[in-house]
Amino acid sequence: MTRIEPERIHPLNSQPLTSGQYVLYWMQASQRAFWNPALEFAVDLADEQRLPLLVCFGLTPHYPEATLRHYAWMLEGLRETAQALQERGIGFVLQLGHPPDLALDLARNAAAVVTDRGYLRHQRAWRHSLAERAPCLVVEVEGDCVVPIEIAYTRPAVSAAVLRRRIQPMLSRFLKPLQERAPRIRANFSKPTLDPTDTERLLSLLEVDQTVKPVSFPAGTSAARQRLQRFLEKSLPRYSDLRSDPRHDVTSGLSPYLHFGQISPVEIALEVSRVGGPEADAFLEELIVRRELALNFVWYNPDYDRWEGLPRWARETLQAHVADPRPAIYTLEELESARTDDPIWNAAQSALAQTGRMHNYLRMYWGKRLLVWTARPEEALRIGLYLNNKYALDGRDPNSYAGVGWCLGLHDRPFPERLIFGKVRAMTPEGFQRKYGTVEQRVLHFD
Ligand SMILES: Cc1cc2nc3c(=O)[nH]c(=O)nc-3n(C[C@H](O)[C@H](O)[C@H](O)COP(=O)(O)OP(=O)(O)OC[C@H]3O[C@@H](n4cnc5c(N)ncnc54)[C@H](O)[C@@H]3O)c2cc1C
Repeated sequence: MTRIEPERIHPLNSQPLTSGQYVLYWMQASQRAFWNPALEFAVDLADEQRLPLLVCFGLTPHYPEATLRHYAWMLEGLRETAQALQERGIGFVLQLGHPPDLALDLARNAAAVVTDRGYLRHQRAWRHSLAERAPCLVVEVEGDCVVPIEIAYTRPAVSAAVLRRRIQPMLSRFLKPLQERAPRIRANFSKPTLDPTDTERLLSLLEVDQTVKPVSFPAGTSAARQRLQRFLEKSLPRYSDLRSDPRHDVTSGLSPYLHFGQISPVEIALEVSRVGGPEADAFLEELIVRRELALNFVWYNPDYDRWEGLPRWARETLQAHVADPRPAIYTLEELESARTDDPIWNAAQSALAQTGRMHNYLRMYWGKRLLVWTARPEEALRIGLYLNNKYALDGRDPNSYAGVGWCLGLHDRPFPERLIFGKVRAMTPEGFQRKYGTVEQRVLHFD
């Protein structure tokens, strides 16, 4: 009997359980040894079948849009995960190649394959590619959201309000602790594996953009948990007042950990709920409603990274203003190297390029200004996604597509019409300075 809510469990093929040597958990999205529904489901299945559990991670040499910065951070987290799995008596192999092919290879001797859920196009394609070819049952377990996406809503949600109404009544059902259990049979495999502790060698095997350097921001589940505790003690009490103020660093900084699945959103939500009160509610609105609105967007909208994925009213109004005069048109190279005439924007872009992070409010401003400095809104979308995904530690996430899309009207409502923006909500340097004064470079860096 599994401890996982049935709504999180999605069989991906109709193959039977076979008599294999182990149960395989193909880990990709939920890169953690704790509070991981896919892992715990696999433990239960292995116990039921009286088999050991093997976890495999496929290291693709060229993951879409990933740079050295992303890989270095991910591998640091994976090192801790590999060790924690081994301590729990679970086998771990790390292999270089195309992840579904590596998983298929190991699936030939497995009784069943369990995997976690990814919401983006290529993540879904990988899982289906394995499920179609595997000789055994393949089950996907959804563990990186609070409310499973198809239970939350069966179609695209046009706004946070729509999703909030659906999700709120379901929270008590899905906000439940998940107790870890060691498998009954300890794993003792001699499978070929790369050494997860040899980061330097692993990085040398990749075919990625080496120009985006790693950042000194600690990765992994322990670092995520420490950051969460520090946030609860120091920042949560000021969260609703100051979260939008870029002069203060009161947000949690948990987005990269969530992106790489190094911490569970359910674990975070339960810890924050324990504190309770309006500050906790404000945080949970971002962590659950806003974040899961982004999951809803990429899951139900096949054009989530294209112009066609934006709402019709937003595309029409932006197109109607294409001929409006722009104060300046900057090339991608000028934007990327932070050479505009706007010191706030330049500081935000420099912080992103150097540290991999940017404050949420500045992200909105940063994305909106791209509309003013590009000849066409399609270009603003393309450049916004390119820069965000190349440099942000939490980039290439459902939130990346929803966040940049929001700057162009996604999940928002029409506002009074104005130049360039049309009916899309505008943000201007004057408005920014009225609210926050001149933001100096130093406050754009996080600790
Ligand atoms: C142009 C633009 C680009 C963005 N790109 C990304 C991105 O690449 N990756 C990313 O994770 N987020 C992105 N966001 C959303 C948001 O800015 C970040 O999630 C947030 O700033 C992360 O900081 P934090 O973890 O300290 O947030 P906190 O305020 O501490 O919030 C906790 C968690 O809630 C979620 N969250 C917070 N704000 C939002 C939001 N507006 N929408 C959806 N989820 C939210 C995140 O998972 C976050 O980690 C983008 C927003 C914009 C406007």
